[in-house]
Amino acid sequence: MTKPHRELGGLTLADLQAVLVELGQPRYRATQIREQAWSGRVGSFQEMATLPVALRHELEAELCFRSLEIGAETTADRGLTSKLLLRGHDGEEVETVLIRHPGGAAARPRNTVCVSSQIGCAIGCLFCATGQLGLRRNLTAAEIVDQVRAAGHIWAAAGSGPPTNVVFMGMGEPLHNYGPVVEAIRLLQDWGLSPRHMVVSTSGLVPEIDRLAAEKLPVRLAISLHAANDLLRDRLVPLNRRYPLAELKAAAMRFSASTGRRVSLEYVLIANVNDRPEDAVALRQLAASVRAHVNLIPMNPIPNSELVAPPQRACREFAEMVGTRASIRFSRGERATAACGQLRASMAALPRRSALAAAAHIELVDGEMSTAPTHG
Ligand code: SF4
Repeated sequence: MTKPHRELGGLTLADLQAVLVELGQPRYRATQIREQAWSGRVGSFQEMATLPVALRHELEAELCFRSLEIGAETTADRGLTSKLLLRGHDGEEVETVLIRHPGGAAARPRNTVCVSSQIGCAIGCLFCATGQLGLRRNLTAAEIVDQVRAAGHIWAAAGSGPPTNVVFMGMGEPLHNYGPVVEAIRLLQDWGLSPRHMVVSTSGLVPEIDRLAAEKLPVRLAISLHAANDLLRDRLVPLNRRYPLAELKAAAMRFSASTGRRVSLEYVLIANVNDRPEDAVALRQLAASVRAHVNLIPMNPIPNSELVAPPQRACREFAEMVGTRASIRFSRGERATAACGQLRASMAALPRRSALAAAAHIELVDGEMSTAPTHG
């Protein structure tokens, strides 16, 4: 596929209005186009029946309807969780995870999209397949927005509602692709999604946490912690050697103070690695000092990995030691290859030697669902 011109997903409503004015069309056509493009019910400009046929052709010549094509889909949890493998113009593939929460008497239904921000990742966490890839390239803002639109397309076909929540917890370190990620947040807001329903996850890029706080976007922040002492975190998340826990903790507190939004801590439980009683005590102390909720995610098993989750009883005991700030999140996506990098790797038959943490990311979506003021 050759890459055409400008991408619809990367345009604000005002940008699109300008395109239509250039084409000699009234501005209201932009709203018509956006509504149909967001509804997920059309897959091209040609399918927009409310537009004149000539305009559909002009739009096709002028704009790329979507920057990513859906390559593969796997589902689990009776269809509530899906993973999409999307393909960019250059053939690179990216994963997106879709999670439906049907809701109930006390909760509204939600449709959460877990988007990737990079293809591969430069951070190189010990337990992560995406990290094994290295960084292949950053995604553009349009490619991030189009993951959400692809999710809307899938859900519309299934008779479900549109995306309501977005979490930046897929492949890549979102704050390592700072500009396009912030642009995507603003674009998604322009497309109709509130940043209040978005969560940005980071492995601990301290300067970018401060930058994000200064954007005055009411997104929530999730910190992929995985260890509460520097010795262990240096091994699990190599970025810790540059921004050790004391600096990360201070940045988290500044983010909370500046935005009024509490951060949450992600902690993948790995047997005989970070599940000792002293790890729980250190985690409890750190969470209390930052006033953060902790999402404990038992390691999601993957092939060729020597890292495994502790037994369920040990997970519960660990959570009890951390205290009331902790919740255990069992991965909904495990049966559908949910962990970050996992679907892509299985499609490409890439060898993997270590395990992934990003099942945690998926479960954080449920954290967001809870009434507790966690990040998600
Ligand atoms: S866990 Fe996240 S930050 Fe770490 S290597 Fe994987 S994708 Fe990158």
